[in-house]
Amino acid sequence: MPKKNTRGSSSSKSSVHEMLAKHEDRRQSLLNEYPQEEKFWDCCAPALPFIVMFVLGSIFSANISFLLKAILLLCLYIVYAKYVCDERVISIDPVYIYLATKFWMYIVWFIYIMSSVPILDTIIFVSWSLVLWYNFLRAWKVDPGVIIVSEDERCEMIMNLLEQGGLDSTLVCTTCMIRKPLRSKHCADCDRCVARFDHHCEWLSNCVGWKNHKFFVGYLFSLVVMCVIFLHGAVKFMRKNCDLECSFVEVVSCEPWITFMSLQGVVHGFWVLGLLIGQLIQILWLGLTTNERLNWARYAKRYGAGNGSGRMQLSTHSNPGVVKNFIDFFELECFGSDKTDWMRVFNQPRNQEESSVDSQPLISDKPDDFHNV
Ligand SMILES: [Zn+2]
Ligand SMILES: [Zn+2]
Repeated sequence: MPKKNTRGSSSSKSSVHEMLAKHEDRRQSLLNEYPQEEKFWDCCAPALPFIVMFVLGSIFSANISFLLKAILLLCLYIVYAKYVCDERVISIDPVYIYLATKFWMYIVWFIYIMSSVPILDTIIFVSWSLVLWYNFLRAWKVDPGVIIVSEDERCEMIMNLLEQGGLDSTLVCTTCMIRKPLRSKHCADCDRCVARFDHHCEWLSNCVGWKNHKFFVGYLFSLVVMCVIFLHGAVKFMRKNCDLECSFVEVVSCEPWITFMSLQGVVHGFWVLGLLIGQLIQILWLGLTTNERLNWARYAKRYGAGNGSGRMQLSTHSNPGVVKNFIDFFELECFGSDKTDWMRVFNQPRNQEESSVDSQPLISDKPDDFHNV
């Protein structure tokens, strides 16, 4: 049970409340220094990737010479760079670029490919889309594990830490003024602390953390499979409708929209596959988040877990193995996944009897504390 602070007088409690209120005011005034985006632009900016992709596809598929297409593309680039592209365009959420790509993939499938492939291919394409959308929406819109505490909890925590010698930045997020759970991190993009933080994903405009990490991995996997299904359909279309004995230029010019979207399918498929492999290695073999892997040397130095020999330390101290990591990460309760609440763990338990958070010292003097982020 949490040990109540009996020494805290009501006056010291109110002064901590006052301090927290001043801190919040300062934080809000800093945030308000940044200009608000125009409402009109907020509505139009997400449509831009859809329009640009349509114009590009239309130029590629126009029945004109290659030279004219090249000139049109150059003109488009000049207009875009000179009159459209500014810092607001650059700041468009990449998620809309992704959505535009997917939108035009659907259009191309239903207009061109569907009539050239067996109905089963379209059923697989649509069914897998549902899997992709499910994982995407869960990763995009679901709370990644934002750490929220009540004012009273925050006040009590600050008072306890002040009594024990001050606010140590390794224990407290000095922006949110909360005690940092193990493996959490403050996301500078979203201005919030997230439990078992992995990274901030620009393509999702969301943090990837404890609560949406498995959906993020599911999204990567389903996107790679989706690209393979699309490319498989595109090849079938080409075989049926294009003369593959012709030159390469003639084959790719056979149906430019198919070529244009296939090219995007290949690019997206490969880089997402690389990302997926990287995530799986981190999760299953290393038992680390992206943040922990990237900052391993810093954390190891801070918490005394060696200087950069991350994998060795991990395998000897903490990594329970590929199968257990898999079960825990995907929270497979039927196989005995651990039910760690990463919002409430402040120190790494060394055995079951010591697992109570408040029975732990704030900083372990043993090297297995390297996960504290
Ligand atoms: Zn924070
Ligand atoms: Zn974030």
